[in-house]
Amino acid sequence: MENKGVQILQFSSSSPYFSILTPGTSLIKLGRYTVNDILDVYFYYDEARTARFLLPNGKEKVVQLFPDYPLPLHAEFEKMSTRRCINNCRYCFVDQMPPGMRPTLYIKDDDYRHSFLYGTFITLSNLTSYDLKRIQRLYLSPLYVTLNSLDPKVRYKLMGENANRRNIKRILAYFRRYGIQLHLQFVICPGYNDFPDLFFSLKALQEYQSIIRSVALVPVGVTRYRRDLSYPVIDMPYARDFIAEVGGLRDQLQYGNRLQLADEWFVRAKKPFPPVSCYKTSFKEEFPQWENGVGMCRWFIRKVKRELKNPLLSEEVLPGQKKLLTSMSALAMWKELKPFLEKQYPVSLHLIPVINNFFGPSVTVNGLLSGKDVLRCLQKTPGTHFALWGDCLQEDGKFLDDMSVKDLVEEANVSLKILRSPEEFAEYILYDRGGST
Ligand code: SF4
Repeated sequence: MENKGVQILQFSSSSPYFSILTPGTSLIKLGRYTVNDILDVYFYYDEARTARFLLPNGKEKVVQLFPDYPLPLHAEFEKMSTRRCINNCRYCFVDQMPPGMRPTLYIKDDDYRHSFLYGTFITLSNLTSYDLKRIQRLYLSPLYVTLNSLDPKVRYKLMGENANRRNIKRILAYFRRYGIQLHLQFVICPGYNDFPDLFFSLKALQEYQSIIRSVALVPVGVTRYRRDLSYPVIDMPYARDFIAEVGGLRDQLQYGNRLQLADEWFVRAKKPFPPVSCYKTSFKEEFPQWENGVGMCRWFIRKVKRELKNPLLSEEVLPGQKKLLTSMSALAMWKELKPFLEKQYPVSLHLIPVINNFFGPSVTVNGLLSGKDVLRCLQKTPGTHFALWGDCLQEDGKFLDDMSVKDLVEEANVSLKILRSPEEFAEYILYDRGGST
């Protein structure tokens, strides 16, 4: 197949290539290496002395590279296309989305390049032999992999027949041979890949422990739009039993301290979040999957406490009530922080839980709150000044249902402070007068 390289959409005038090349030019070779996508650009640019470009008129041009001129050349490269998933998972969240949302939310991304660059989870089902060689050659490590089970029968039932298109154990052995490290996750669907299958899979993984950086066990997410009703919702007794069984297993596995439970288990079990020590691994990592909701609450609580212990902060605290809108999942975290804050400072933290009607009340994470749900909650709650944790906003500042913060505050006639980091939360608690949006 003809290699089209990576197209350069535009150069800024400060780029040394500005006067030599025009937008629409594609970078097709760096030195002797063919450029397939932006990964090749990053990997081969440093050692290349020349670059071959395909000009918009179809001619090729070889350019001497400017030594020591760093990427990305003051140029905007085209976005990498997304390798789509070929599975058919019973629990797929994309299939449980409401209709009519923005098209990007329906993309089933299963791209090993994104896994390496951005930490997105992949299943390995769609890898070709070429991909595997490329992962080895470019040393794309670590990768984030959804494994779910090592038993082909369970994988088939849970993820469809394509999940066994490749022999998963052979791929793991291949990664072990080349030292490609992995952060793994199991999405636990009761009756499919929970105990006893989970026990066998985790035991079998010991063979590959040299490349396993972490294993996260995440409860399946269920929205009101789910079609498959063949597995039960994870409730409090189930979550409690599961936590207890995994606790026992951690002691038996050689990589036991890398096996970690998502925060959601503790929320559903109504149990306290584990201490920091539970998120330290023998790979000398702490909270290796916090962005996957594994230890995120403990990480956050620690960050806020450290921030608030800074003696310089406590000088001019503005006393008063701070009203924080929160998802049901995050409520437990704020409840743990509340007594600490109120003991230390003349403030009171009023927690206002937002029920997720958009996806259904069983969806409790903050990142999936919709604008309409927040609005409904604000309209029922007395007060004019509120704060909201901002991870439910997309890159464009809108909620998943396309409502903007501006529209929300106008409609509710309140001010709403959007918080995006532990530092911002600490500042809000100590200094906010409650007037800004
Ligand atoms: S791998 Fe499964 S859960 Fe992920 S997008 Fe594909 S079908 Fe959905």
